[in-house]
Amino acid sequence: MNKINVNDILTSYDKENLTIATVCSHSSLQIFNGAKKEGFKTIGISVGEKKKFYDAFPLGKPDEFFIVEKYKDILKYTNELREKNAIVIPHGSFVEYLGAEKFLTFNIPTFGNRDVLLWESDRGKERIWLEGAGLTMPMEIKNPKEIDMPVIVKYHGAKGGKGFFIAKTYNEFLRRIKKDKPFTIQEFVMGTRYYLHYFYSPIQNNAYKLSKGSIQLLSMDRRDETTIDEVQRLGSIAELEEIGIHPTFVVTGNIPIVMRESLLPKVFDMGAAVVEKSLNLFGGIIGSFCLETVVTEDLEFKVFEISARIVAGTNPYTFGSPYSELIQPDMSTGRRIAQEIKFAAKNKLLDKILT
Ligand code: ATP
Repeated sequence: MNKINVNDILTSYDKENLTIATVCSHSSLQIFNGAKKEGFKTIGISVGEKKKFYDAFPLGKPDEFFIVEKYKDILKYTNELREKNAIVIPHGSFVEYLGAEKFLTFNIPTFGNRDVLLWESDRGKERIWLEGAGLTMPMEIKNPKEIDMPVIVKYHGAKGGKGFFIAKTYNEFLRRIKKDKPFTIQEFVMGTRYYLHYFYSPIQNNAYKLSKGSIQLLSMDRRDETTIDEVQRLGSIAELEEIGIHPTFVVTGNIPIVMRESLLPKVFDMGAAVVEKSLNLFGGIIGSFCLETVVTEDLEFKVFEISARIVAGTNPYTFGSPYSELIQPDMSTGRRIAQEIKFAAKNKLLDKILT
């Protein structure tokens, strides 16, 4: 695969007239809003006409739309995007819609380190990274016959928890598993879930300092997942399973949350360790990332996933969170990204945060 030479592309860019572009979905309202606050022009890439929808949110509406028939057609807009000095902000849906391979070869300066994709999309590599950083992950059960506790079965590549199920015994596992799809079995961790939203800057040293750059904690959320989060309205899971109703983990929204303050130092330790390890493994995770955790009754964190870019869980905080307000008023993750680009452009450091 040809590695993109971001410096080559940037030489033709007018750094005082950069445009921020993203796909019209996921966290785009927040990204456009944040970019506008920092004085950037914005482009929304959308499948089909979405103007009517964005008209309803003038402060989150892109200045211009690139309308495509299917997301993969974005690649045809490379020249137009370059003419606009566009920098792409990838969010979860952006990568999902474009496909990993096309995302890696998309010839437009992109915020963050694209190499991280190889480490987060492969559950084995993800474990090497996170456990290598000293984090505790849920135990993995290699042989389904050894299921002797509640487990969660996750299909590979299934986004947003689709199709995942809980089993407590081998027989239950056999009843539910779709054997044609690759899967992982993890200990189901009992506790409360926190999805921690960090921002790592390799070029600014004004927050929680690391060997290079610094991290911030911008916010945290809890996902609202159907049907697991409401299942108790109908009865216990056991009762429902008897009549063939199984809870699922499909995300439908995000709930703002804060954590016991005494746990925050640990939150920073974990974020710092993940970044330090990423610097060793692949040159560093840049910008926003999220650790998806369960805190047990012993107040221990178990990390079941990392998302290496802006997550939709930051959407409750378009106008700041209880944490980001302590850094700068009215700062969303989308705005923080725009600020980083602005700072890098001003200090000729764009190649340190774009790939
Ligand atoms: P995404 O890529 O959108 O983060 P995903 O499809 O990779 O999602 P996970 O985030 O790994 O899936 O899991 C989906 C949901 O399942 C989580 O939000 C959480 O509620 C639950 N979950 C995952 N792993 C565990 C675990 N080990 N113990 C308890 N609950 C878990």
